[in-house]
Amino acid sequence: MDNDIQEVLYDQESIQKAAERLGKQITQDYAGSTPLFLSVLKGAYLWTADLLREVDLYAELEFIKISSYHGGVSSSDEITLVTDVRSDVRGRDVIILEDIVDTGQSLLFLKELLAKRGAKSIKVATLLDKIEGRKVEVDADYAGFNVRNEFVVGYGLDYEEHYRNLPYVGILKKEVYTK
Ligand code: 5GP
Ligand code: MG
Ligand code: MG
Repeated sequence: MDNDIQEVLYDQESIQKAAERLGKQITQDYAGSTPLFLSVLKGAYLWTADLLREVDLYAELEFIKISSYHGGVSSSDEITLVTDVRSDVRGRDVIILEDIVDTGQSLLFLKELLAKRGAKSIKVATLLDKIEGRKVEVDADYAGFNVRNEFVVGYGLDYEEHYRNLPYVGILKKEVYTK
């Protein structure tokens, strides 16, 4: 797999440091609350594990699955809910956990869904923020890294379901997806 990577951007150690930094910040910001972390599958699975272990609060964890990318390397405008959350979000402080915010369309979809269901507050903690990719107006409240406008894989992020298990985030060589 390493041979398919053009450049390593964030290794496990730097991701761990980002989790510590944001975990501390969230612990302070949500003191006195019992936030509901809503992890977006599948991409956020490792980031969820890292970040949550740095949060020193009574908190709950739920998973939601949406689909936006249809296999390729560019986002789709059509987002569908694949697996819904089980618990009620009404009146809860919700923190969405994302792997990456690119066009922002997935995040907007989720925020609107949670708002409609009566969440008390909605924030997002993303491992990567690809600010240059934005098509809709939505901000990441907590971001591990501002990532370049490149297609990246690893640490949860996939290309056609592969590379999620790479222990770092790296830029995928163009020749891998332009064959
Ligand atoms: P959106 O464009 O809606 O902000 O992002 C939707 C989803 O597309 C992300 O949660 C992520 O799963 C995927 N995505 C966006 N940019 C990248 C990227 O550079 N690499 C990978 N592997 N997935 C991405
Ligand atoms: Mg995602
Ligand atoms: Mg994907």
